[in-house]
Amino acid sequence: MNERLARAVASRRDELVALCVDLIRFPTVNPPGDAYTPCAEWIAHRLRRAGYETIMVRGEGTPGDTDRYPRTNVVARRAGRGPGPTVHFNSHIDVVEAGAGWTVDPFAGAVREGRVYGRGACDMKGGLAASIVAAEAFMEVFPDFPGAIEISGTVDEESGGFGGVAYLARQGYFSKPRVDHVIIPEPLNKDRICLGHRGVWWAEIETKGEIAHGSMPFLGDCAVRHMGAVLDAFEDELFPALDAKRTAMPVVPEGARRSTMNINSIHGGQTEDYRPGLPSPNVPDWCRLTIDRRFLLEERLEEVKGEVTAILDRLARERPKFRYSIRDVMEVLPTMTERDAPVVTAVAAGIREVFGREPDYVISPGTYDQKHVARIGHLHDCIAYGPGILDLAHRPDEWVGIDDMVESATVMAYSLDALLNGALTR
Ligand SMILES: [Zn+2]
Repeated sequence: MNERLARAVASRRDELVALCVDLIRFPTVNPPGDAYTPCAEWIAHRLRRAGYETIMVRGEGTPGDTDRYPRTNVVARRAGRGPGPTVHFNSHIDVVEAGAGWTVDPFAGAVREGRVYGRGACDMKGGLAASIVAAEAFMEVFPDFPGAIEISGTVDEESGGFGGVAYLARQGYFSKPRVDHVIIPEPLNKDRICLGHRGVWWAEIETKGEIAHGSMPFLGDCAVRHMGAVLDAFEDELFPALDAKRTAMPVVPEGARRSTMNINSIHGGQTEDYRPGLPSPNVPDWCRLTIDRRFLLEERLEEVKGEVTAILDRLARERPKFRYSIRDVMEVLPTMTERDAPVVTAVAAGIREVFGREPDYVISPGTYDQKHVARIGHLHDCIAYGPGILDLAHRPDEWVGIDDMVESATVMAYSLDALLNGALTR
């Protein structure tokens, strides 16, 4: 039976390429969230032709949602002949800006030497196209399948997913009993299963000072120097401590298999820019720093925050006039689906079947929409699996391999056979 599925996918190769090209031609750049509605409507039209019922859901009032840039999502559902579970393929339709350095038109979908080029080719319009073809091949071979298949095209993943999966999850689109298994075809490579991601804590730290004339800094209190003390303490204590925290989570790349922190930005005092106006003659009375801390399943968010506030509190005791405030900007808990979860077992069997070897199980260093499925939808049978090489995402001359799309679509079709028909237990 598997042979028939593989053949049904292979016979759709040209269609898979055409789908990927057509999707790339919608310049769904986020921000601001361009061309969402025409892209979502095109997907809806395409899926209705294949027998799906579709619904458009606008992420009303979510960040960036305006009449000019509506956050338009599409959810399509094709019910089978009898009762059974629902498998949902979720892809984000937004892409990051093209940026400089391209040798091809980023929104033309050029096909060359077995690859489709374009912004979003691997992240993740190739994955969306693969899932559409996988489902159609499965339905051709098993027209009387039980359960249901859903495919969604959602917005804003690149900016947090608030108008996309988070919004839909709040409406129940990613919860039982509607959905049982979720596959997100992000470009994690065709033979790897991504079980989840590390956690995120973004925070803004502000040190306070006292304004005074720059010629007499001793009359004021320099907030930038206070922040310098914070950075010194981070260098001496926090960074070495984070570096030493290793995780059992199989994060890729290897360098991310530990706690990390980035300092995203630092600003203090008035403008330093001479061109439009004049430089500030003052002692700065504020300085702000944004930190991006990525944490592990082995860490608790309270501890993660506590490490930073302990340093700030100690500085407040030891350093004259040191005052600070700290504000949470974003919190995402780490998530990792169990290896024996049904969707993992099903996709692993598909990878074995297609590639003749065991899959690699990985964890993403950064987060993606799985967080909303897990935290808001309370659905834990969710993974990322799709074609494309992760390192190419967001770069110039992004591409996805045609063979990779076909092979991962075959894995997805096998996974549907396992999850809906119970092929693994037959
Ligand atoms: Zn992506």
